[in-house]
Amino acid sequence: MFPGPIYQMDIKNNIQKLQTELESKGCILVAVSKTHPPELILEAYTSGHKVFGENKVQELVSKYEALPKDIEWHLIGHLQRNKVKYIAPFVTLIHAIDSVKLLEEVNKQGAKINRVIHCLLQVHIAQEETKFGFDPAEVLKIIRTGGIGSMPYVKIKGLMAMATLTDKTDIIASEFKSVQELITTLRKEKLPTNVEMKELSIGMSSDYKIALDYGSTMVRVGTAIFGERKYD
Ligand SMILES: *Cc1c(COP(=O)(O)O)cnc(C)c1O
Repeated sequence: MFPGPIYQMDIKNNIQKLQTELESKGCILVAVSKTHPPELILEAYTSGHKVFGENKVQELVSKYEALPKDIEWHLIGHLQRNKVKYIAPFVTLIHAIDSVKLLEEVNKQGAKINRVIHCLLQVHIAQEETKFGFDPAEVLKIIRTGGIGSMPYVKIKGLMAMATLTDKTDIIASEFKSVQELITTLRKEKLPTNVEMKELSIGMSSDYKIALDYGSTMVRVGTAIFGERKYD
């Protein structure tokens, strides 16, 4: 017989503590449930949490099908154009729009089912080459002249970004600062009617406290709620 896990994550308690910390800053919690089974998501759900994030379309769809229908599902990971159709009917927010072509596809799929789909533009702020997203200058250009105003089935709610994976907090802070400056600039502009720069999705388990100092309105936290992920 195994003695069972020595250390069990207390999901409800973790969520509650985070909620308290975020609430006073006007920030919402997206509980990142990727790789975790529906039973663990239900544990969070029954404690009253309704907002979950997944990074893969297939996993998102199967969890959507298996779990209560009042859950708000956010797609936080990279999205391929040919997969937009699977999530268009139910997704609450797509965080990682990283090309105009992808946005056009979201608009097309929204039109088919007469549903306005909420999106964030992903901004590339990290030093790593591998991270997806628009450069800040591209974001300005797309919003000013990219024709988003003529995509009625898309609503841009704000920006999303990921900092470099590092323990150097000054690097993380300066990256978050750059995206905060970008959204501050945009908030002062006259935006197309379907663009509102309200949400700033920055901060994960390791850096959400820093993100709160730079205007985060939405943190995406997984490990600090559910524990380490196991990949096989
Ligand atoms: C996995 C993931 C997170 C959450 O990461 P944690 O370190 O587990 O909090 C946040 N954002 C994105 C885009 C992710 O893929």
